[in-house]
Amino acid sequence: MQRQEPAPGTLYLVGTPIGHLGDLSPRARELLRQVDVIACEDTRHSGQLLASLGAQGRRLSFHQHNTRSRLPQLLELLKQPLSLALISDAGLPGISDPGEALAAAARADGHEVICIPGPCAATTALVSSGLPSGRFCFEGFLPTKGRDRQQRLANIARESRTTVLYEAPHRLLALLDELVTHCGEDRPVQVARELTKRYEQQIGPTVGAAREHFRQHPPQGECTLVLGGAPLQPTTQHSEAELLRRLEQHMEAGASASDAARELADQTGTSRRELYALLHRRTTNLPQH
Ligand code: SAM
Repeated sequence: MQRQEPAPGTLYLVGTPIGHLGDLSPRARELLRQVDVIACEDTRHSGQLLASLGAQGRRLSFHQHNTRSRLPQLLELLKQPLSLALISDAGLPGISDPGEALAAAARADGHEVICIPGPCAATTALVSSGLPSGRFCFEGFLPTKGRDRQQRLANIARESRTTVLYEAPHRLLALLDELVTHCGEDRPVQVARELTKRYEQQIGPTVGAAREHFRQHPPQGECTLVLGGAPLQPTTQHSEAELLRRLEQHMEAGASASDAARELADQTGTSRRELYALLHRRTTNLPQH
């Protein structure tokens, strides 16, 4: 049997549409109608959606500029105990939106935190990009300038997993320029524009081609970039003696055989099975006393 929702003293992180209003789930709809209090990133922005649902709950703002003052008030409401929903302007609260701090504080105070899942631009762009989705990283918005930005770009360029990035349209061309510099023109990318909306588009298939497209058609609307991973470097051949020496070093430092093999496999790209076999051969070749 489903549990009764909304429950008093529980924080609900509720996913809302990133464009198409039909993407609000029936569960989210029902919860927003019935919950005692709704914390909104922007009460005016969410007003229309909430009015269309007939949501009666008290509305409070919760955004990056009032997090510190609002957090204790929201925790107090949970303690009463009232039910509390958090929504952001669009998508999943906590993903490049306010949510993380409230979820952490509510958990630390012993309240239940439940996510009512909904659309998220990152995963929507990822799965429709056609780029590998088995392993991926989410970088959100990069720092806007300086060394931190350059460092993050350098790390992203080396990353072998698919990387998802958010960017504002007026900064998109600058980001594509930097990605060409760091990753080369041929690195695969899909720029997802206006996901779930009428003029939804995917622009690729490479960083160079996307940059060319947006030079011709200045970016408008919301964009999420899905960048293919760096090609895996061919693994350097390590001699058996070298591998054995490094395994023994790890074990002398206190690692178990399996931890030593796992660590060295990560470092050298040699398979763990091969490393175990080396260790086994060493043990069976040891002089018997
Ligand atoms: N919490 C949201 C989520 O779950 O996707 C993300 C909020 S973040 C402040 C806003 C960024 O998400 C935009 O700048 C854009 O990069 C991306 N985004 C949001 N809606 C989008 C859409 N419909 N199409 C493409 N990207 C979108």
